[in-house]
Amino acid sequence: MSDNLILGIDLGTTNSLAAVMTSGGPEIIRDDRGASLVPSVIAFSEGKVTVGQEARDHAVENPTATVYSVKRLMGKSVEDLTNEMDVLPYDIVPGRHDTVCVNVQGRRMTPQELSAIILRDIKTRAEVVCGSGKEISRAVITVPAYFDDSQRQATRDAGRIAGLEVCRIINEPTAAALAYGLDRNEDACIAVYDLGGGTFDVSILRVSGGVFEVLSTQGDTQLGGDDLDRELINLLTDEIRSEFGEELTFPPATRQALRTFAEATKIRLSTELDATVEVALGGGRVFRRTITRDEFESLATRWVDHTIEHCARALRDAGLGPQDIDQVVMVGGSTRVPLVCSKTKEFFGREPYTAVNPDEIVALGAAVQAGILAGIKRDTLLLDVTPLSLGIETLGGAVGKLIMRNSTVPCQASETFSTYVDGQTSVDIHVLQGERELAKDCRSLGKFQLTGIPPMPAGAPRVQVTFLLDANGILGVSARELRSGKAASVQITPAHGLTRDEVDSMVNESYAHAMEDLNAHRLIDLRNESERILKAIEKSLETAGDVLTPGQRQALDAAVGDLKAKREGEDCDAVYEAMGVANDAAMPLTEAQMDSVLSKTIKGRKMDDV
Ligand code: ADP
Ligand code: MG
Repeated sequence: MSDNLILGIDLGTTNSLAAVMTSGGPEIIRDDRGASLVPSVIAFSEGKVTVGQEARDHAVENPTATVYSVKRLMGKSVEDLTNEMDVLPYDIVPGRHDTVCVNVQGRRMTPQELSAIILRDIKTRAEVVCGSGKEISRAVITVPAYFDDSQRQATRDAGRIAGLEVCRIINEPTAAALAYGLDRNEDACIAVYDLGGGTFDVSILRVSGGVFEVLSTQGDTQLGGDDLDRELINLLTDEIRSEFGEELTFPPATRQALRTFAEATKIRLSTELDATVEVALGGGRVFRRTITRDEFESLATRWVDHTIEHCARALRDAGLGPQDIDQVVMVGGSTRVPLVCSKTKEFFGREPYTAVNPDEIVALGAAVQAGILAGIKRDTLLLDVTPLSLGIETLGGAVGKLIMRNSTVPCQASETFSTYVDGQTSVDIHVLQGERELAKDCRSLGKFQLTGIPPMPAGAPRVQVTFLLDANGILGVSARELRSGKAASVQITPAHGLTRDEVDSMVNESYAHAMEDLNAHRLIDLRNESERILKAIEKSLETAGDVLTPGQRQALDAAVGDLKAKREGEDCDAVYEAMGVANDAAMPLTEAQMDSVLSKTIKGRKMDDV
């Protein structure tokens, strides 16, 4: 394998897998038993972390320490997830910056960290298979076409955490079409129908000259193969109860067995006309039942019909009819259900493209894209639409990216920032383009100022910066202070003056400097964060310093001194550790202050403000 190996990864809600590009075409990574799919499940028990099938096998017995469907949490806030919280059995808690975390046995883990555990597992498996003991450090990761910027960024961050530089995030439907070689079509409309384990989506793409454009995407994030399993589980439990008594309870081991049987039955019915289930209920009792495909299809029909309704909606959004679709591509394990294929065929009026393994097609496409990036596959055009990322400079010279490279245009992204100094009445907005982590290494596209912000304490103003990239690649930037409504805007043409080679070299540079940049960025973040902590401690000491015992005060002074010293150094881990120590030492102070702040706010607030 060559040094420039880039892994193509399908990071799925239910299953994840990887493929690589070889001289003979894309190849799926399989373990020594030939298995490619790694269930996207992580189990934590007795200090051990397991990923994949083993973790999945124990999900029912160990519900609170088994995390699955992490993809649903990526880039989401608690508010976004109100509907899903009840469905997921593990503990979802609010995280920083309006994100969510999973409470895993008392430890808060971000969805990015959890996804990184899966990605690291995939990476390690691939390293074993590709041999030669070389580390694989780059990847292309696929995401659903409807993923927004924060979900894409979260995916990219997960890659980074797993030690993978994510060269490209591509849309799953695009990857599937790429795997079929549909990028060579001169001008065609493609419908990609993706029915996985817990999600369904359909995307209408237009491909022309190697560029894929997502015309529309529709779907249901709560519809998939799991629903078909559940139909079978319900059927089985109802019949078991009517045969052995209504009061019969199902202990975790039996529930796990039922789930496994239900899925196995469903899978068998994709190729057989009937399948027999046998469940041992203890005490020598055995339940036996043969289910026919007709019976299964009558349970599955309403779910499949829903997917067809979404197809109709997606076509309507794209302004097309079924007759305008040149190709229909089937993706996802659940498209092996014969009823799914026949209904899709009926709706689109054409034979769909079905892969031997529809659950592997997206990873194959990701590997094709990886091959293009690595220069192995030269006969295909690059798919980029926005050649470079767009962002603004944040405190300390770091870059906060708003529009990621290769976003389809037109697109829009916003992010909210705040001030760092009390009473600050204006902010400078420095718009940047490039892949590097530091502002000084990116191309400056322009600066403007948002003025007239009413004086507020540091951190109180909410400055929302919005990037709107129109179909011509023209960037409009606007900023608005949300509390006062103060707004400013500027027009910028980002691609202006950058040649293809310049773009390539900026990208290559970003590869070459990835690690260096990452550390530099992390150091800036840590310094900013420690500055904030030091200021907060100083403030609290003024108002509540007297709650500390002499011993506590001494410990706090020492911790503050140490943090100030470490902050000047270059060692990220040392700064991080010193921050933790200072935070802990300030705890009695924070608690005392929290009480007074809480009572003050409650007293001083009208109900409307809460
Ligand atoms: P995701 O994209 O959500 O990660 P996959 O594409 O891997 O998911 O699809 C997983 C789903 O496919 C599961 O519900 C699984 O039971 C179902 N599946 C896999 N093989 C078959 C089959 N032969 N027949 C029916 N369903 C199948
Ligand atoms: Mg999938």
